Amino acid sequence: MDHDVIIIGAGPGGIFTALELTRLAPEMRIAVFESGHRLEERHCPIDGDKVRSCIRCKSCAIMNGFGGAGAFSDGKYNITNDFGGTLHEYIGREKALELMRYVDDINMSHGGEGTTLYSTAGSRFAKLCMQNRLTLLNASVRHLGTDINYVVLGRLYDELKDRIDFHFRTPVEHIEHLPDGSYRVDTADRSYTCRNCVISVGRSGSKWMETVCRELNIGTRSNRVDLGVRVELPAVIFSHITDELYEGKIVYRTHKYEDEVRTFCMNPRGIVVNENTNGIVTVNGHSFEDEARKTENTNFALLVSKHFSEPFRDSNGYGESIVRLSNMLGGGAMVQRYGDLIRGRRSTQKRIDECTVRPTLAATPGDLSLVLPKRILDGIMEMIEALDRIAPGTANDDTLLYGVEVKFYNMEVVLDKHLETCRKGLYVIGDGSGVTHSLSHASASGVYVAREIAEGFRRQ
Ligand SMILES: Cc1cc2nc3c(=O)[nH]c(=O)nc-3n(C[C@H](O)[C@H](O)[C@H](O)COP(=O)(O)OP(=O)(O)OC[C@H]3O[C@@H](n4cnc5c(N)ncnc54)[C@H](O)[C@@H]3O)c2cc1C
Repeated sequence: MDHDVIIIGAGPGGIFTALELTRLAPEMRIAVFESGHRLEERHCPIDGDKVRSCIRCKSCAIMNGFGGAGAFSDGKYNITNDFGGTLHEYIGREKALELMRYVDDINMSHGGEGTTLYSTAGSRFAKLCMQNRLTLLNASVRHLGTDINYVVLGRLYDELKDRIDFHFRTPVEHIEHLPDGSYRVDTADRSYTCRNCVISVGRSGSKWMETVCRELNIGTRSNRVDLGVRVELPAVIFSHITDELYEGKIVYRTHKYEDEVRTFCMNPRGIVVNENTNGIVTVNGHSFEDEARKTENTNFALLVSKHFSEPFRDSNGYGESIVRLSNMLGGGAMVQRYGDLIRGRRSTQKRIDECTVRPTLAATPGDLSLVLPKRILDGIMEMIEALDRIAPGTANDDTLLYGVEVKFYNMEVVLDKHLETCRKGLYVIGDGSGVTHSLSHASASGVYVAREIAEGFRRQ
């Protein structure tokens, strides 16, 4: 046996599995295979000068590599069972919260100390939201910020690098369950064997994950896709909310269709960015702890969840088609003034240049109504009007809407309460399992599985 444990993917799920294993069972032989680069080698070529938009690198530096999809994220660790995944359905509510707090403690001891933990507990906005057909979700939010998040990841790597065999730029191609119960993990160059295998490939590994499940006869359930736009407006309009909560997770139920629209990933005084997922360009947001890098704008996504029922199972394919349409029209991300959207006209460069909100992303001015399905766009517009009642100015003509923002969810892998598949010793964690959709839940699932494996190892 080459290794006791092989971990596939070095995102938060994989990192926290590795970290907990080295703490609980330092004698274990552990390898991590990661298709992307080391943290310090992750550089997106977009420099805003020579390269202004995504050139579709083979391994996307934003999504892949040590730190996973969240490496350059805003580093918001939400300690809650209300959103971010359904880990609590497998391991229990208390356990899930306890593990998220444990992850927070580790982050604090690796460079995160001094960052703020926000909380919705007792917030006056809960009542204000309720009075306006909106619901404020409960959470404690640790905001590391993109810069501190990077520092924390660097320190976690320093702790792990001499105890774990890291293989970067090494995508795992195939997994075989051998007759003796062990696993063979194949990469392009060679194969490795292990007793336990933890798959933590995140969203970017979703297609590969589906293949693994098919080949190993592991059940999957179809899931959902969230589609919408990223809103950018003057920070002052939302400052009464963001100063107190940092991120208000607000849900709205539309009059017209009773669909759920929610705010997602709020970045006070942040920037809007491009994101490349499987070759398609979507939008996202970042913000920084460093005062010098803060902007005058706040951005957040407004997303509508679309759940599909049988026989349609390809919710991600549906989302991708809509993003492709926007990429076809805009050559990448698209931007539109809210005032242009409600007047049924496209935004032009001239209108964007005259806008009082200065865009933080160079996107193509266009018409989002040609891209997003009516039902989704109606929901977004209704929610903008509802938000205007708790944050007047949200529905201003110059509020910018970038599209398309999409949140893909992996197929949910059928797992037991140990997050183990029907194949003994094969665990699937993090966003790749469809169980988690966030940094805190993915990290907590890693700690949980590491403890399960360490326990089994000690019993041997
Ligand atoms: C721009 C952005 C901002 C975000 N901001 C936040 C935030 O503020 N708060 C929050 O809670 N969440 C945020 N998220 C989501 C968060 O990043 C993810 O929920 C989290 O990273 C999931 O962790 P994971 O370990 O499951 O997967 P990932 O982080 O996706 O890591 C999976 C890793 O597996 C590797 N991999 C994939 N396939 C293979 C293979 N076959 N072989 C080897 N390696 C493979 C990938 O290269 C990747 O590095 C953000 C995401 C993005 C993209």
